Amino acid sequence: DVSAIPGVPGWLSGHLQDEGIEALYPPQAEAVEAGVTEGANLVASVPTASGKTLVAELAMLSAVAGEESGKALYIVPLRALASEKAEEFEQFEEYGIEVGVSTGNYDSDGGWLADKDIIVATSEKVDSLVRNDADWIAELSCVVADEVHLVDDGQRGPTLEVTLAKLRQLNAGLQTVALSATIGNADELADWLDAELVDSNWRPIELQKGVHYGQALHLEDGSQQRLEVRNSESETAAIVRDTLADDGSTLVFVNSRRNAEAAARRLSGTTRDFLDADERETLAEIAAEIRDVSDTETSDDLADAVEGGAAFHHAGLANDHRSLIEEAFRDRLLKVVCATPTLAAGVNTPSRRVVVRDWRRYDGSTGGMAPLSVLEVHQMMGRAGRPGLDPYGEAVLLANSHDELDELFERYVWADPEPVRSKLAAEPALRTHLLATVASGFASSREGILEFLERTLHATQNADRNELERVTDRMLDYLDVNDFLERDGDQLQATGLGHTVSRLYLDPMSAAEIIDGLRDWERAGGQSAGREREPDEDAESAGFTRASELAADDGGDDGPREPPSALGLYHLVARTPDMYELYLRSGDEEEYTQLAYERETEFLGPMPSEYEEDRFEDWLSALKTARLLEDWASEIDENEITDRYAVGPGDIRGKVETTQWLLGAAESLAGELGMDCVPAIREARTRVEHGVKSELVDLASVRGVGRKRARRLYDAGIRTRADLREAEKAVVLGALRGREKTAENVLENAGREDPSMDGVEPADIDGVGAT
Ligand code: ADP
Repeated sequence: DVSAIPGVPGWLSGHLQDEGIEALYPPQAEAVEAGVTEGANLVASVPTASGKTLVAELAMLSAVAGEESGKALYIVPLRALASEKAEEFEQFEEYGIEVGVSTGNYDSDGGWLADKDIIVATSEKVDSLVRNDADWIAELSCVVADEVHLVDDGQRGPTLEVTLAKLRQLNAGLQTVALSATIGNADELADWLDAELVDSNWRPIELQKGVHYGQALHLEDGSQQRLEVRNSESETAAIVRDTLADDGSTLVFVNSRRNAEAAARRLSGTTRDFLDADERETLAEIAAEIRDVSDTETSDDLADAVEGGAAFHHAGLANDHRSLIEEAFRDRLLKVVCATPTLAAGVNTPSRRVVVRDWRRYDGSTGGMAPLSVLEVHQMMGRAGRPGLDPYGEAVLLANSHDELDELFERYVWADPEPVRSKLAAEPALRTHLLATVASGFASSREGILEFLERTLHATQNADRNELERVTDRMLDYLDVNDFLERDGDQLQATGLGHTVSRLYLDPMSAAEIIDGLRDWERAGGQSAGREREPDEDAESAGFTRASELAADDGGDDGPREPPSALGLYHLVARTPDMYELYLRSGDEEEYTQLAYERETEFLGPMPSEYEEDRFEDWLSALKTARLLEDWASEIDENEITDRYAVGPGDIRGKVETTQWLLGAAESLAGELGMDCVPAIREARTRVEHGVKSELVDLASVRGVGRKRARRLYDAGIRTRADLREAEKAVVLGALRGREKTAENVLENAGREDPSMDGVEPADIDGVGAT
């Protein structure tokens, strides 16, 4: 009974009852019994959609509202989830609980969060807040880690692991609550966090897993349902049709964005026939909203599918698109959503049936297909069944042969998820985290570092410390050679540069690449050093080569230093490990090799030789990214870019944001090192931020203007923000295609005294041009 929970504010039981929650689910009751509302540490390993969020809320509310009330921090794995979770917690604002989301820049201390009671952030953001000494960290009394099984992720897991260890070291009394999907070794996580364990398989709605093969659905309880596939349709379409006949919706997981788009297009042919007139009308309205968000092919494809009752969902979509799709699916307007596995990571979109169509996915490291983990497949499957709405959920894999039917039962239906393992003992992870650990004062010697590392899951899971020590020593050497750390005997200290790198949240290797590239440019007198030289022997023997040392004897001409070009700077940041690569497709290699030679003088740092195939290929894929950014900063149409590089609009935005951050960091580093190229870096950054050529930067930075409007205003003779305050209103209105509201907004944002467009007739500016 929800009125008998100790430690939570008095208003909570009434509130929960209003929300239709009369009694706790069994795992929730276990969590309360284990003391989650009385400060106890807890690991809850329970299936998807079994009420983990309420466990977190109980812990946070008791921490926030109690006697020595402090703050609660909720750590999410994805930025997209941060706002979703925060919206959920905003239900408590009526009781005076303030909720804040910390997203955005990695280099600030988020001071405004000090007024909040519940703060939602990604682990990267929390890590950076710790590095920037956010004061309020000391006031935390509860931290919740959502999807904690992701500590297993090689890329991002170590950040979560180290961040939890740091928060717990900073604040001995901190309550730690970790929420996990069902895994086999939740007890090890509990050991690590000194926590009570709730390990449960309970689900609020029955889930049947199974495999479709031939004309039948084989379920794990041994039963079979006839599910006929017609000649003209795919197995997936048959399942969608069968589910719709029973008025249910289907979530289809596929292995790539392209497949998600193609499947949605095809399945809308199936769902279309099941829509009634009202649904058709509402879906058409949603399609129009989707087209309004952005004027791209992806947007169009999505809108087309939505009109037919189907949609795709992947990380390349704009955020507004994503929320429109999720909402329409929850409202049962959309009958099918085809998604890449990112959706399984926590976006709350349950449906009657889940089809895991692709259980293999392209693996960049091997170049072949690799099976998904059991944990991932079970998480996708766990989305099946909506409590209170569906009688049960069904999750289905697809088999092409009898052998595959058996294999899928063995591999996924009957299998237990893999154990979660720490991925901390890897070079990129330790390179970054060791520097930050020293820079923010968690350790000041090799011994101190090893002691700190005792607080990690890695230490809990590995009795043998050899591997961790070996990688640690190697990375300390790396940080030393690159002047990020200084060693005095056993003592360690971050250099000024090291502090900056840590605060900027850069991978030290990115910082080294940027610094070396900029130094090389300055040294060469503004002319690129050109092709690779003989490596320096000392650097070689230390095990590392530094581009700056490679180029040290360059003796470039002593002419005046030209600032580096935007392309050169985009390429510099594109080749750092902090930028995701664009893959080279067939034909790309030739195209970009040619481009590399054409623009050879613009690159910062030496180009690797073509004989070093791997390095050269990386260099070329960075060039592909750099040219995408250059296109964007040259006002090339968004559609043309998505076509040319086979990416979605969300990808362009992602690349642009990363570039802004990295160039911002490059600016700080160049400033710190007293280099001359700071203005050139700033210009390249603002150009990419707004997606415009240099002459439009000022105009495009006025809120509400954007790249296209800036160009039209400019061509009509309005060239700066100041011009906007003086310009003839008729011309402004003409350039803004007669949109009065927009024009008023723009003028107001530019600081004009009287922005009203009352009675203004738009001038016919076509043909005015840039004369
Ligand atoms: P998880 O985080 O475990 O994936 P959620 O916390 O999103 O799952 O819970 C799934 C759904 O169950 C939510 O819609 C939530 O409101 C509902 N729910 C949670 N606890 C209860 C309860 N005790 N009684 C009824 N519904 C509940």
